[in-house]
Amino acid sequence: MYAELRSPNIHEPLNMAEYNNTILSYRDVTPVLWAGGTEIMSRPDYYPSQRANVELISLDKVEELHHFLRNDRFAEFGAMVSINDIAQAGKLVLPRILLETINSTACRTVREKITIGGSLCTKSFKTNLASTLMILDAAVEIRYLKKRMHSKWFQLSRIYDKNGKLEMPEGGLLSKVRIAIQQYDYQYFRSAGTPISDKENAVALALVARFEQGNISYARIIFTLPDKGFCYSRDLDNLITSVQLPLSITRYATVENYVVDYIKENLSGISALQEARIRGLFHDMFRDMNETVLCYTPK
Ligand SMILES: Cc1cc2nc3c(=O)[nH]c(=O)nc-3n(C[C@H](O)[C@H](O)[C@H](O)COP(=O)(O)OP(=O)(O)OC[C@H]3O[C@@H](n4cnc5c(N)ncnc54)[C@H](O)[C@@H]3O)c2cc1C
Repeated sequence: MYAELRSPNIHEPLNMAEYNNTILSYRDVTPVLWAGGTEIMSRPDYYPSQRANVELISLDKVEELHHFLRNDRFAEFGAMVSINDIAQAGKLVLPRILLETINSTACRTVREKITIGGSLCTKSFKTNLASTLMILDAAVEIRYLKKRMHSKWFQLSRIYDKNGKLEMPEGGLLSKVRIAIQQYDYQYFRSAGTPISDKENAVALALVARFEQGNISYARIIFTLPDKGFCYSRDLDNLITSVQLPLSITRYATVENYVVDYIKENLSGISALQEARIRGLFHDMFRDMNETVLCYTPK
């Protein structure tokens, strides 16, 4: 280390009671929470840094945040469970789309470091994991200081504003994530480009749907543009549900143009490559959905 570097103060609470005490004793500063560190260390000139004289709270030793609980209806993960462990533990029960999203993130060595809490609280871009968990209606427990420490459950979508900016109470800790154990008739996840080196052009699309007599009876769709935000709404879900499958080429063009215009209206500054990727992913998804519905046999 360089001599002139200023060391941050690092706190390593062993349990939630110690974490609460640390937060209460630093009421006037907002400490930086350190989970896997993969995003924090990727920030230019952040750590070690000549500027930083911050209070860091490493969450690694907080025992409760490593817990994993499962029953027939849901799986609950502490914020410090790595996304690799989630994919391993939930291989047989979690929605397939979640496993696909996790396995498309970075490489295995990095996935062992990335935590579910860090993935949902990364501020510099929107992660694909956050968007997939949103369409799966995941819930999160947030702990925050307001005179004393409080904890409250929220639908995941409620911790982001309409453009995907994280809107947690100042200094809030995301402590648990609850994911319903259910499967869908159709699950689709694809991404193009990487949010790390090319976030201006990267795009991901995730969709879950249920079929009834060859038609879509339920659909949730979300587009992730890492530097611009998430695009999901009841309007897009209803559009997908109103579609008669298999979708003809002429009707498909109308649906695709509607979706692209909708995304452009809601998220500004979309690059030409990003638009081409949105069209490509959406087109591939409908082709796949047409094939699936033609082969679909109800259980
Ligand atoms: C080589 C590499 C490749 C990558 N590839 C991809 C990719 O393909 N797709 C993708 O989506 N991402 C990718 N990432 C980014 C990765 O998703 C983020 O770095 C990761 O989500 C951060 O998780 P973390 O546990 O390391 O969090 P940290 O880096 O420790 O923290 C991230 C932020 O979240 C806050 N935070 C952490 N935990 C909590 C909590 N429990 N409550 C409140 N705030 C919290 C921290 O204070 C910080 O602001 C890649 C990263 C690397 C290094």
